[in-house]
Amino acid sequence: MERIYLDNNATTPLFPEVTNLFIEHLHNNFGNASSLHSFGQKSREILNISRMKIANILNANADEIIFTSSGTESNNLAITGFILNHLENSATCADKPHIITSATEHKAILEVIKKLEKRNMVDVSILPVTSTGIIEEKTVVSAIKDNTILISLMTANNETGTIQDIKNITAAIRAKSKNIAIHTDAVQAFGKINIDVKELGIDMLSISSHKINGPKGVGGLFVRRGCKINPIILGGSHEWNLRAGTENIAGIGAFALAAEITIKNKKNSELRDYLQKRILEEIDNTHLNGDLKHRLSNTLNISFQGIEAAALLTRLDMKGIAVSTGSACSSGSTEPSYTLRAMGVSAINAYSAIRFSLGYQNTKDEIDIVVDSLKEIIRKMY
Ligand code: PLP
Repeated sequence: MERIYLDNNATTPLFPEVTNLFIEHLHNNFGNASSLHSFGQKSREILNISRMKIANILNANADEIIFTSSGTESNNLAITGFILNHLENSATCADKPHIITSATEHKAILEVIKKLEKRNMVDVSILPVTSTGIIEEKTVVSAIKDNTILISLMTANNETGTIQDIKNITAAIRAKSKNIAIHTDAVQAFGKINIDVKELGIDMLSISSHKINGPKGVGGLFVRRGCKINPIILGGSHEWNLRAGTENIAGIGAFALAAEITIKNKKNSELRDYLQKRILEEIDNTHLNGDLKHRLSNTLNISFQGIEAAALLTRLDMKGIAVSTGSACSSGSTEPSYTLRAMGVSAINAYSAIRFSLGYQNTKDEIDIVVDSLKEIIRKMY
């Protein structure tokens, strides 16, 4: 049975060159980058070069990049690290600091912020989105209070692919207040759209290796010079004293290579558009979720009205086709996607939503097989 993988927003297969480099580093470059001997120095060199590569791609400085274990850790470090630093350094305990975020953020943001709120460390505003998942500038600006110190809004959504205008949102925030730090979760956007941290004007930005055909267990956080955060993992002086733990040299080296390959071969939306057109035209009662204009080129979220998405997913899987019913982290949960619900999608349509996320390996022939399989399965399910 031919197997077709259309769940690349959950995770991706490694590029073959990345697998080779990863294995080579595991075999030959096992030294601890903090060791002074030549084994350690070789690892230090790989670490430095990889940091430079990621920094160049983001138009950042090397000393603004912190390697972490995942996008999740990067988000935790950005939010909790920033708040801890603020609380440690604020002269008075007058006003509790205020954080703004949006209802469609990944759980790796929402849960962190909710935890800080529960611990009574911050006040929180969770912003609504439009019916296509857009966070409007005016909504952000009107939520700013005197005690707002941090705003975290994702660059692109994992379920719908909706892309936010972070540059304009940032400019609008800055026009209202110069004292607010801005973080963006760019885990899904990195490698798929151009990201220039200077042009965006943001203070912190999270990325992850396994979403761009790099290995799991590696992430990165850009922290602008002058933006102060505290470490959340304590120990040695690794990563500019901001993330203790012996560096994952093989993973970091492979991440940097995956990023370079991804940037060089950025995919257009041709194949996704073909899949979208065929589904919407050939299958009745289908409805697109997300923003038609501002959307990642690889992502397609469709509600198959009247069909239970989990059952459709299982039947597709039996034919060797992998898709998702929402974010991987919430699969197994019986709740419909909170992202779609926040966009005003009805519970019934949210329960029938399937996410197709394409990768570098997918072909037009595969897309044809997927659509034909969908038609056959759905005919039987009605
Ligand atoms: N943020 C977004 C938008 C994501 O899609 C994901 C993963 O699905 C994460 C954060 C978490 O990244 P990681 O899987 O590297 O922890």
